[in-house]
Amino acid sequence: MYETLQNPQLRDPMTTPPKPTPTTPAPPRLTVICGPMFAGKTTELISRLTRHAEAGRSIIALKPRLDDRYHPTDLATHDQRTHPALAIDAPADLLDHSADVVALDEAHFFTTGLHDAVMQLLARNSDVILAGLDRTSMNEPFGEMARLLIEADEIIKRTAPCAICGREAVHTIRLFDSTEDIVVGGPGMFENRCRSHLKSK
Ligand SMILES: [Zn+2]
Repeated sequence: MYETLQNPQLRDPMTTPPKPTPTTPAPPRLTVICGPMFAGKTTELISRLTRHAEAGRSIIALKPRLDDRYHPTDLATHDQRTHPALAIDAPADLLDHSADVVALDEAHFFTTGLHDAVMQLLARNSDVILAGLDRTSMNEPFGEMARLLIEADEIIKRTAPCAICGREAVHTIRLFDSTEDIVVGGPGMFENRCRSHLKSK
């Protein structure tokens, strides 16, 4: 049931938006860059971090230690771009670092505890940028990414070409038998598929 506005002092949010007060600092923002594999998520993360650094903000880039496919610590894209980063073992390790902007690549590898850690970073007034898969290759939400997506101030959803038809795809399938959510791998182990070719061999 809806309450009727009786008090004329009360602001009707539908008709009278509040005026921004210039003296109020901007609230911290959560940005999530998601999409399938090989979709340029890390490239977008590096680009955003670079822009923040150029604007004079302190930045730190982190990644799960689990992900050492291309470089043991740096952020690395599938096309060999890199950016200095630190490897961490658990989501709580995010809280050991303070910066205006804290970025975490391959965020989906942390399947539990990430939401709490991100909320604490935001409470400390750090902007947070996460990049990672939003769904598993079994087409389920990946770890806590769905919770983080509904918390996000900004979502960048990338796509990549379907391996069968070349159209934009948001699904990644695995080309081997396994039911594990976390399998660190690259081209040859996974393929992106559009909705039409999700089940094609
Ligand atoms: Zn297709």
